[in-house]
Amino acid sequence: MVAHTVGQGLWGLENLAGIPGTVGAAVVQNIGAYGVELSDQFVSLRAFDRSTRAFVELAAPACRFAYRQSLFKQEKGRYVVTRVRLKVSRAGAPNLSYGNLSAIGDPDDPGQIMAEVLRLRARKLPDWRRCGNAGSFFHNPVVSDPEGRAFMLANPGAPAFSQADGWKLSAGWLIEQAGLKGYRRGRAGVSEQHALVLVNHGGATCSDILDLADHVATTVRHRFGISLQREPELL
Ligand SMILES: Cc1cc2nc3c(=O)[nH]c(=O)nc-3n(C[C@H](O)[C@H](O)[C@H](O)COP(=O)(O)OP(=O)(O)OC[C@H]3O[C@@H](n4cnc5c(N)ncnc54)[C@H](O)[C@@H]3O)c2cc1C
Repeated sequence: MVAHTVGQGLWGLENLAGIPGTVGAAVVQNIGAYGVELSDQFVSLRAFDRSTRAFVELAAPACRFAYRQSLFKQEKGRYVVTRVRLKVSRAGAPNLSYGNLSAIGDPDDPGQIMAEVLRLRARKLPDWRRCGNAGSFFHNPVVSDPEGRAFMLANPGAPAFSQADGWKLSAGWLIEQAGLKGYRRGRAGVSEQHALVLVNHGGATCSDILDLADHVATTVRHRFGISLQREPELL
């Protein structure tokens, strides 16, 4: 979908390039990357409501989008998303707010941003085709305003992003500062490229990965007093 719209010179989805998955699942997770969330470009969707056995049209407020959250996660299994309406634009509106993206200057084509996002992702994230992983393994924790301020005071220079309901911290930074980047536990490990990604070095089982995830969350909690929540869901 990203490549399809970008290929037509349409702006809006280019920062979401390279996130694996279907369009229907993208609203479930409210996928986001490089300063853009799907909900920023969302207009409405059509879904089959299994509880009433009828199709419904839902606009953005009804979908209760939040950071990696939506109605479809909260009422799991109730809706089957069959159509998603997104807004894209012919007028260039580049979003270069995130990190290194501003280095590309003043792009006149969304393809330039898409190419840069794909390049950055390839550099920063382990390739799931070669080293099994589920992308980010933990949500970036959102803490209350007093908690966030106390954290920043105790950890000068730590990334923290102001939110309506407090502060969003960087789970990757917390894991890296806890000394776990590149850590290996048997066949499972924390990626050497990106501390937020747990990787299967070959033959790791589900419980190997979950043991490692517990170790990471416990270590971060002891070091910073911050709880990490797992992002991938177990079916
Ligand atoms: C290497 C890698 C990198 C990633 N990077 C990012 C990233 O940068 N940002 C980000 O936000 N996520 C990222 N992810 C997470 C992932 O891509 C998303 O969660 C994705 O949306 C999952 O899509 P899927 O089609 O595989 O869904 P599935 O895993 O098959 O399903 C996810 C959930 O959605 C439900 N679902 C699926 N389709 C529908 C539908 N049509 N209607 C209702 N419910 C449905 C399923 O039942 C399930 O509960 C990454 C994952 C990987 C592996």
